[in-house]
Amino acid sequence: MSKLQAVKGMNDLLPEEAARWQALERKLAAWFATYGYRNMRTPVLEQTALFQRGIGEATDIVEKEMFSFTDRLNGDELTMRPEFTAGLVRAAVEHNLLYNGPRRIFSLGPVFRHERPQRGRYRQFHQIDVEAMGFPGPDIDAELITMLDRLWRELGLSHMRLEINSLGNADERRAHREALIGYFEAHQSDLDEDARRRLHANPLRILDTKNPAMQDLADRAPKLSDHLGADSIAHFRELKAYLDNAGIAYTVNPRMVRGLDYYNLTVFEWITDQLGAQGTVCGGGRYDGMIELFGGKPAPAVGFAIGVERLLDLVKQGGLLESAEGCDVYVMHQDEMDGSGGAAPKQAAHLAFRVAEDLRDAGLEVVLHCGGGSFKSQMKKADASGAEFAVIVGADEVAAAQATVKKLRGDPLQERISIISLKQYLVDKLAMEQDT
Ligand code: ATP
Ligand code: MG
Repeated sequence: MSKLQAVKGMNDLLPEEAARWQALERKLAAWFATYGYRNMRTPVLEQTALFQRGIGEATDIVEKEMFSFTDRLNGDELTMRPEFTAGLVRAAVEHNLLYNGPRRIFSLGPVFRHERPQRGRYRQFHQIDVEAMGFPGPDIDAELITMLDRLWRELGLSHMRLEINSLGNADERRAHREALIGYFEAHQSDLDEDARRRLHANPLRILDTKNPAMQDLADRAPKLSDHLGADSIAHFRELKAYLDNAGIAYTVNPRMVRGLDYYNLTVFEWITDQLGAQGTVCGGGRYDGMIELFGGKPAPAVGFAIGVERLLDLVKQGGLLESAEGCDVYVMHQDEMDGSGGAAPKQAAHLAFRVAEDLRDAGLEVVLHCGGGSFKSQMKKADASGAEFAVIVGADEVAAAQATVKKLRGDPLQERISIISLKQYLVDKLAMEQDT
């Protein structure tokens, strides 16, 4: 039979790698709590129309990156979420989440985009998504950026660079758009194919071009900042003042537009040069119009998304994430016949089984050896498990209602302990280990 394989661009996380993800998730849980953000979870599948309306038809995501399909059972047009914001806003509107005032929420999980797989770019990847709904800013904009700065510090990432920009309001963007179209039309012959296609659909995106031949043209294009009105300018100025106040360095990148239609006012990205071409680890911004666009009572909102794969790639290169340790205790038991043909092995296995459960009652992390084998091979497994202690139950131990405890790391220690006092003995020993 031929082997079955994972879908292209979608990764398996084996236990060693997954342990690092869990370590990150523990860190994140504390981080969210520090800032008072609460978890929310929405389905992976949504109506395709949600993303078309929310993200915008002329964006990369909706144009060419979505996993969309027709449900063959009922004809529904569905899409695997390519990002979190649209689904979270849909749910917030559907459940009237802002009824009692603004909300700080986060979500975590897989998102799907049909892109060409390469380092830092996958078809199923994961995002840490944070949204603050109902806040007009700029104080909350600064809070989101500040909390990211803290996360980078906690993860030991010292090379993260912050870029910010203001996209103004819809009228200001419209005026800028007219100016852009005029400018690019006057330079038709210098446009690449992508830019020509976007010229009338989404000229702002041309500014985002990665084509080296287009950089000059994009640099000299009319700036949105020249079209901002007093309110937008004030919002941006105050955001910068909050960041200065928090001691967070940034550069203003007037060409940063972000790849989604829904942004207004504040947009930002955290970038590193340690990941090659895929250097954007986190992107975010304000989307004051989306809640209303989805049929809710008008309310402002702002959020960001971190790419988990890119983040963990960085942490692996020298960050500070302690990965999960081994278990506390590995319980093994006699398996070979003792020659007498008696019931000792079975009794040892049963006693070991009960001992393991008993230790778990005390909250210890216990791995029970399963599948038999010689003591020697079991001891190898015990060592590899990362356990602090091995508990050994042989025929002698069964007869004496005892177990042998062997310390597997640090100073050697081996003792016979009665089954009755084993639990307390190990709890005390492990507590002493923790202290030192
Ligand atoms: P890029 O310019 O790299 O395509 P983007 O603007 O499409 O990024 P966002 O939609 O802002 O990305 O998503 C937020 C974050 O998710 C990105 O900053 C990045 O870290 C991560 N990300 C985006 N696309 C992918 C992907 N295909 N694979 C892995 N991570 C991704
Ligand atoms: Mg993209």
